[in-house]
Amino acid sequence: MNLAQFPRRRYTEGQTPLEFLPRLTKELNGPNIWIKRDDMLGLAGGGNKTRKLEFLVADAFAQGADTLITCGAVQSNHCRLTLAAACKEGLPCHFIIEERVPGSYNEQASGNNFLFHLMGIASVTVVPGGSNMMEAMEKLADSIRQKGGKPYIIPGGGSNAVGTLGYVACAEEIIAQAFDKGLNIDYVVCTSGSGGTHAGLAVGFWGNNTNIPVVGINISRPNETQRPVIIKDAVATAKRFGLDFPEAMVDCVEGYVGPGYSLPTPEMVEAVKLMARTEAILLDPVYTGKSFAGLLGLIRQGRFKKGENVVFVHTGGSPALYHYKDYFAQS
Ligand SMILES: *Cc1c(COP(=O)(O)O)cnc(C)c1O
Repeated sequence: MNLAQFPRRRYTEGQTPLEFLPRLTKELNGPNIWIKRDDMLGLAGGGNKTRKLEFLVADAFAQGADTLITCGAVQSNHCRLTLAAACKEGLPCHFIIEERVPGSYNEQASGNNFLFHLMGIASVTVVPGGSNMMEAMEKLADSIRQKGGKPYIIPGGGSNAVGTLGYVACAEEIIAQAFDKGLNIDYVVCTSGSGGTHAGLAVGFWGNNTNIPVVGINISRPNETQRPVIIKDAVATAKRFGLDFPEAMVDCVEGYVGPGYSLPTPEMVEAVKLMARTEAILLDPVYTGKSFAGLLGLIRQGRFKKGENVVFVHTGGSPALYHYKDYFAQS
C-alpha cells in the first residue's frame, strides 16, 4: 500500500519494538505472546495517538492551519498527545473535555490532566457527558477564526480516514519486523475504542494480503454499536488507496467493558498485574488493561492454540495508570 502519497510528520525515531514475552507465555501455557510496543512511540508519554497525529498534523499544515483543536475524556491520552505534537510544532492547542461522569473534571488531577497543564494547554472547555463534541469544537473554531486564527479540528481519538493511516503504517511495520525475525503471525489483537487503531490494522493486514486476522477488544461499546464504527472508518481509509474493504473482516469482541468506559473490572486488575509481574510492562486501566483481559479470556476459551503466535498491540496509556491507583488498592 503506497503510504508515501500522503503528507506525514515524524514523531518517532525508527520503529517500536516487537518483543516476545517468554515469562507471560510460560505462565499462560497457551499461544506464544508477542507485544508491539506502541507505548514506546514518540511524543510525551507515548501511545497510539502519536501514529495518527503524524498524518493529522501534516494534513493540518497542508491546509494552512496554525491552531489545533481536539476533544476527549477527562484523562484523555489522545488530548495529551495532540498537545505534545502541537508543542513540538509550535502551535497553540485547545481542548473540549467531555465530563462523562458529572463533576469528574478536576484541574488539579494527576495523570494526563497534570500533563495538559505542564505542556501549556491554550484553553480547556468542559462540556457535560453526551454533548455533541463536533459541534462544540466547531463553535470554538469559529471564535478562533474571528480572531484571525486558522484552526484545524482533530476528531476524538484522531480516528478518521487521515489519522487511521497511522495504523495502516503500523501494520506494515509489524509485517516487516515479523519477516525480519522469521515470525509467522497467526493473530493480531488490539484495543477497539474510537476505532482508528483497529480499523487501520485491519485495513493494513488485509490490504497487504497477509491473511492475518485482526481481533479488536471493545473497551466502551457492545458489538452492535462498535462494529459499525470500525467498518465506517476502515471502508473510508481503504478508499483512500482505491480499495473496497470487506466488512466481514471486522472482528470485535465484547464482554470486557464491565460497568462502563474507564470503570474498573476485576479482569482488568488481574490483567494489569499479570503483565507487570511477569514482564514488567505497564498497561493502563481504561484501554490496554481491558483489552489484555480480553486476550486472556479468548485464550481460556480456546480461541488461540498452543504454539500459535499472537501479537498484542500495546497502545499505551500508562501515564493515566497513576491517576487510577485506587483501582489497585487491595493489591
Ligand atoms: C485511544 C486509546 C486506545 C484506543 O484506540 P482507538 O484508535 O481510539 O480505538 C487504546 N489504548 C490507549 C492507551 C488509548 O489512549
